[in-house]
Amino acid sequence: MTPLRDLLESITALTKIWKRDRALKPIETKLARHMAKAFRAHRDTFLQEFERVGPGILGEASAPPAIEGALEAAYQATLADFLAPIEEAAGAAIAAAAKHRVAEFGIDYAFDLKNPRAIAAIKDRAAAAVKEIDATTREEIARIISQGMEGGYNYQQVARQIVAKYDEFGVGKPQAHIRNRAELIAVTEAAEAYEAGNRLVIDEMTAVGLEMEKSWSTVGDDRVSDGCRTNAAVGWIPVDQTFPSGHQHAPRFPGCRCAILYRRRPTT
Ligand SMILES: [Zn+2]
Repeated sequence: MTPLRDLLESITALTKIWKRDRALKPIETKLARHMAKAFRAHRDTFLQEFERVGPGILGEASAPPAIEGALEAAYQATLADFLAPIEEAAGAAIAAAAKHRVAEFGIDYAFDLKNPRAIAAIKDRAAAAVKEIDATTREEIARIISQGMEGGYNYQQVARQIVAKYDEFGVGKPQAHIRNRAELIAVTEAAEAYEAGNRLVIDEMTAVGLEMEKSWSTVGDDRVSDGCRTNAAVGWIPVDQTFPSGHQHAPRFPGCRCAILYRRRPTT
């Protein structure tokens, strides 16, 4: 490949990532706000239950099932608060991706969010996301409680730490470019859905016999992880192949900023 073609290709890649990010930004902002709100609702239900069963049980054999029960109550009470906004965001991100790819390839494809494959992609992704979110929350809360019991903390001390942990979900700092857990979820879900939307269009193209290729594009700064760099290094591969990490497409992990580029297989 000539240096000029190289340069043009990286400009094209950056333009596509910029377009993606611009479309996803408002979706992420809105979803992060909803997630922070859902965590507050989760906290309120959990603390209410914890307060009801908590004071007498710390250090008792009945503590784990009682706390499990309080977490389950909070999960059930807030399920819709998590699920509905994630579904809405996934739909918007999928629609944005479909619009971008249809324009890019100039294909005659009337994408509709109501098509069964789009609906399945949205439902599946949102359900998986909520499951992951709930598992992480349970883990975090259970850790605080078991550490509190080991350290001989009283109920008030443990409850205070739990409140602090919930606050962190909304204002903490899990990664340098992402402020808190609510935002991390929003960025990850928007990216997942966007890539799922890409695939909906690309699969339509392969279904009519077009040979498509994909490549893994990083944002190219020094914070890109080694695994993503390795994926990018293989260049263009057939759409159905997996990247070296085993992924069909980005994001490789929560907060991964990579994007997948697609093209028709060159005839030369
Ligand atoms: Zn990445």
